[in-house]
Amino acid sequence: MKTEIIRIDPVRPEPYKLEYCGAVLRYGGLVAFPTETVYGLGANAFLDNAVRKVFEAKGRPADNPLIVHVAYYASAESAGEFADGRQRNLFYALGAKFWPGPLTMIIKKRSVIPDSVSCGLDTVGIRMPSNRIAAGLLRAARVPIAAPSANSSGRPSPTRFEHVLEDMYGKVDVIIDGGECSVGVESTVLDLNGPEPTVLRPGAVTREDIARVAGTCGEYGWSSADLHVDKPRSPGMKYRHYAPKARMLMFSGTPDAVRRAILARLRAEKTAGKRVGVLETEEQICYYNEADVLLSLGPENEPRAHAQALFAALRQFDAAGVDVIFARALEAEGVDDAVMNRMFRAAGGTVLPAEE
Ligand code: AMP
Ligand code: MG
Repeated sequence: MKTEIIRIDPVRPEPYKLEYCGAVLRYGGLVAFPTETVYGLGANAFLDNAVRKVFEAKGRPADNPLIVHVAYYASAESAGEFADGRQRNLFYALGAKFWPGPLTMIIKKRSVIPDSVSCGLDTVGIRMPSNRIAAGLLRAARVPIAAPSANSSGRPSPTRFEHVLEDMYGKVDVIIDGGECSVGVESTVLDLNGPEPTVLRPGAVTREDIARVAGTCGEYGWSSADLHVDKPRSPGMKYRHYAPKARMLMFSGTPDAVRRAILARLRAEKTAGKRVGVLETEEQICYYNEADVLLSLGPENEPRAHAQALFAALRQFDAAGVDVIFARALEAEGVDDAVMNRMFRAAGGTVLPAEE
């Protein structure tokens, strides 16, 4: 397939380019576009055929549903037509507070959304992105857009145009080159169907943020054996994901204990002739000069910087031909909950305790 590349200004998106890309979407084409979280791969959510092509382009498992993206309006009310009566108040309250932004709400599905979007579930995830290109594109498309992250299934999500090019060139109609994603990890997925709102996938809107509006907020624990269960609440959670080609080993413990554990393993791997990478915070990275590739997650106490850096770093290790990546499990607080969720799954679901 011929892929068209269109550069759009992230600060002042050119209206004629948005109109063009919006029309490609409306008539059933696939367009990869930046959002504030990661790049998305969009299709007209009302067109069954277009939605199917998204699964094909990504190699996405057929039971992993897509999030439906809606345009920015003055309030969340127009999107509320998707919600059923019981959920509507909570949906509006959370939408008023966090939309446009990195929050996806799972509500009962209306029949206008084809089964191919929800993979047969009776629920659907809805999000209103804030990124200017995404918002303008959705307005120009004049239809809701089903969009997963624009990576090949299983690979780290794309936070830059170059990442999308790597995975999607030749498989989609248009790739928009629209700069870097500011958040860097996917949206918070919040289920509104239970007795209390429940976070299924952590993101930049934290459980505490939601509880402040909703009064209460549950969390579907991700760090336990959830990765291996057959029928998780959110189908996407069961797949090994975000994985670099290199083996990733994650250690928990104090920074000192982790440093000793990593250095010991690192030397063993080097002796065995392996290329080694270390992913650490700015404060710790200086201790690993023996590694072949050192990448920083940013300052220890800036979780938002970690989120922004993670996926690009994983892809950079791959580009540098690293065999093993060592990383430390950070305290999963605030946005670091989302960062650790992704890192944990990139590491295949195991964290090694570093001995004191
Ligand atoms: P991605 O589009 O790659 O960010 O993945 C979307 C995530 O949202 C996956 O983890 C899905 O399993 C989850 N998701 C989408 N729709 C639903 C739904 N109706 N119920 C539960 N999880 C959903
Ligand atoms: Mg994804």
